[in-house]
Amino acid sequence: MAEFGESFTAHMVTSEWTVDGGWGPLELGPHAPVSVPPSMVGLHYGQVVFEGLKVYRQADGSVGIFRAQAHAARLADSARRLVIPPLPEPMFLKAVDLLTAANQDSLPRDAGSGLSLYLRPLLFASDSSLALRPARSYKFVLIAFVTEGFFADEPDPLPVWVSPVHTRAAPGGTGNVKFAGNYAPTYWAQEEARMAGCRQVVWLDAIERRWVEELGGMNIFFVRGSGSTPQVVTPPLGGTLLPGVTRDTLLNLSGRLGYEPREERVSVSQWQEECNEGTITETFACGTAAAVTPVGTVRYRDVEWNVGTGMTGPVTADLRQLLTNVQTGRVPSPEGWIRF
Ligand code: PMP
Repeated sequence: MAEFGESFTAHMVTSEWTVDGGWGPLELGPHAPVSVPPSMVGLHYGQVVFEGLKVYRQADGSVGIFRAQAHAARLADSARRLVIPPLPEPMFLKAVDLLTAANQDSLPRDAGSGLSLYLRPLLFASDSSLALRPARSYKFVLIAFVTEGFFADEPDPLPVWVSPVHTRAAPGGTGNVKFAGNYAPTYWAQEEARMAGCRQVVWLDAIERRWVEELGGMNIFFVRGSGSTPQVVTPPLGGTLLPGVTRDTLLNLSGRLGYEPREERVSVSQWQEECNEGTITETFACGTAAAVTPVGTVRYRDVEWNVGTGMTGPVTADLRQLLTNVQTGRVPSPEGWIRF
């Protein structure tokens, strides 16, 4: 299998926004290079936002797009934050429908193949101008690739590294939207994590460097599994976290499994202490690409601790299984989660 996001399906969908005409018609065409001027605003000043959502082969053989409306809404929020004209929801849905219909044969017929079709919508300032102001023309591009998952070749559970220096997002910044510029600045810390023998970076808040916020490009959950009702805890959305669609989905599914979902801050020292005393028994990351990815060990400065047994815990395993079952239509999900 090619690396994540390297080998694309045959088609793409595009549209252009102009001052006079707003968003133009959606066009389905072959996946091909996009020609841009070297003075393009998006390249120089980063007026670029994107999304990531998935299409799953359903148990009945059809294909279903998972939580398309939630991704449409988040793309519109991201666009507004970057002063990009948002793509109206009906256009977003039509675009994902068009590309899914054109490329659904690239997904194996078997709903249990573990493969899914990842859709990447992108909105960027296509204006040729170096003036420091919002662009006057924009482009929408939707491309797709088949994937096994982000961590298909990684150890499971993951060893993770808490960055003591770098932060991902500051209050008042762009951490709560899918802005392209949120991502490349994380590469350095990711390199440091690798040099420390770990696979992903845990991000602390930018003010106190104390509260655990996210894990790589994923949301994070802690399981307090020692009581009679396991608590499934994730940091609250305070403006610096990306409001993950998988995060929202798992909060919902936790209740269905009889767990107690909670949005509550957890500090890095609390994480360590509660793991050592056996209160926090599991930790996992989640996202569209990563699904549910368990954490086995944590390194922070010169200390290292295990989470639970260092193996995938039962609550993580149950949530992972239920998420897959919901995404592939093996069990029912709330109205509107799967788009046929
Ligand atoms: N946090 C960040 C920073 C992300 O980039 C992503 C991936 N979009 C997530 C969390 C998970 O979000 P979702 O579940 O919507 O994919």
